[in-house]
Amino acid sequence: MAGFDLVVIGAGPGGYVAAARAAQLGMKVACVEREERLGGVCLRVGCIPSKALLDSSELYAAAGERLAEHGVGVGKVRLDLKTMLARKDRVVADLTGAVQTLLERAGVEIVRGNARLAGPNGVAVESAGGKGRSKGAATLEAKAVLLATGSEPVDVRAFPADGKRIVTSTEALAFDAVPKRLGIVGGGYIGLELGSVWARLGSEVTVIEALPRIASTADGQVGRALERSLKKQGLSFRVKTRVVEAKASARGVKAVVEGEEGKQESFFFDRLLVAVGRRPLTRGLGLEEAGVRVDDKTGRVRVDAAYRTSVPTVYAVGDLVDGPMLAHKASAEGIAAVEGLAGLPGEVSYDAVPSVIYTHPEVASVGLTEEQVKARGVAYCSGVYPFGGNGRARCAGEAEGFVKVLAHQASGRLLGVHIVGPRASDLLAEAVLAVELGASAQALARTVHAHPTFGEALMEAAGVAARCAGDG
Ligand code: FAD
Ligand code: NAD
Repeated sequence: MAGFDLVVIGAGPGGYVAAARAAQLGMKVACVEREERLGGVCLRVGCIPSKALLDSSELYAAAGERLAEHGVGVGKVRLDLKTMLARKDRVVADLTGAVQTLLERAGVEIVRGNARLAGPNGVAVESAGGKGRSKGAATLEAKAVLLATGSEPVDVRAFPADGKRIVTSTEALAFDAVPKRLGIVGGGYIGLELGSVWARLGSEVTVIEALPRIASTADGQVGRALERSLKKQGLSFRVKTRVVEAKASARGVKAVVEGEEGKQESFFFDRLLVAVGRRPLTRGLGLEEAGVRVDDKTGRVRVDAAYRTSVPTVYAVGDLVDGPMLAHKASAEGIAAVEGLAGLPGEVSYDAVPSVIYTHPEVASVGLTEEQVKARGVAYCSGVYPFGGNGRARCAGEAEGFVKVLAHQASGRLLGVHIVGPRASDLLAEAVLAVELGASAQALARTVHAHPTFGEALMEAAGVAARCAGDG
């Protein structure tokens, strides 16, 4: 096939956003994707379907528990799982279709098939054929190649997922019946989000986490608050515990767990979800032959500040490279990489990348946790404000949780903002902008916020931090 300025491999949040931006900048672009639907893990089997189920299951839980407090009687609440799953599939179909339209309108050539590097300026594509597509092989010539092939779930070697009883997040987004007992290995993002979905729908959920606490990347105070809240919702946690054996049968999964001091215990689950992290997807990409170096320990593709790999014409972004495996981080890198290619000053502000766990209450963070601030030996101020003191949260009957603002003691500059509570994911945007702009707790505290809004809790927490920091 004739030459392109850029060939992108993978149409996830890293790849499709990069392809669209490159086309906008005037480049001749192709984007190769092996799956039928565009949008990557995030849109097909990640962010989007999980949030659709979190939203639906939250409505189900609210109808059963919280509506009565508002004087709204709905009678006996009934779960129609088939409809809930079909709605989730429709949301995925709509959004993946929208990505296809976006790329088509931008003038990106969408190439279906499995891609591998064929030298520094070539991408070999093999198509298995299928719906309206012919089977065959082609080589695309490119001035530059962007690798955006993402990641895949990590297996536990002792009990690899079978897709039926021992499953990954992909199957746990589509159980055809609510498992009576759901075991989850790993109390990270997926364990807590999908654990919440199925617990709300009626599963008895047990999360087994190797580390001393769940949500181990969150600020400690926030993580502890989340754990208390999820326990109240019926989830059970075994921390400092590992699953050492799991045997699947037609009836379910027998799992042997080992806690502190080697104490073993057996559990029987209907399904066991393995959510112990993801690893970069480099298999079959021909990296070694092409001379693209990967990190020996993490398997991630090594890139410089311009996302260039050890082969100067080959770039990489997203889950494939270092940093948090988050969709918005992948997209920001995709844009920065192609802007750099076009001679623009593309860059990602890694100190202000937000993260959210979409449980109820939600956990949303930007910047350093209190543990990280302490480890750096920085003198700091912490301001905490509970949603119990926020008028709007009281009106909504959503007063659980708090906002925590960490500020540099001498200057008041924001170091981190951590929210556990209602609408945390949306409230965080203001904090991300403040961190990005290098604002102080004082500036946030003096910013007039509409009343009554959830956002006032952020202003109040900043006010508490400001009283100890800088000129507060
Ligand atoms: P991907 O989205 O993985 O896309 C890579 C694409 O490349 C895929 O479509 C794949 O088919 C294609 N591909 C791979 N190899 C080849 C090849 N050789 N040839 C052709 N095509 C190829 N992140 C968030 O920020 N927020 C969330 O709420 C969130 N929820 C998640 C929930 C779950 C259950 C999971 C599993 C992940 C979630 N994530 C979330 C993480 C998010 O999905 C990833 O960080 C994001 O998808 C990474 O984007 P990417 O473009 O790097 O890769
Ligand atoms: P994770 O890294 O978030 O959590 C994995 C957890 O498993 C960790 O707490 C780890 O200590 C624990 N663990 C590892 N091995 C274990 C073992 N043998 N026994 C018990 N516990 C063990 O990984 P995940 O939940 O699989 O999610 C993968 C990635 O996908 C996330 O890191 C995140 O980048 C992304 N994701 C993001 C979101 C979001 O942004 N809301 C949602 C889902 C997934």
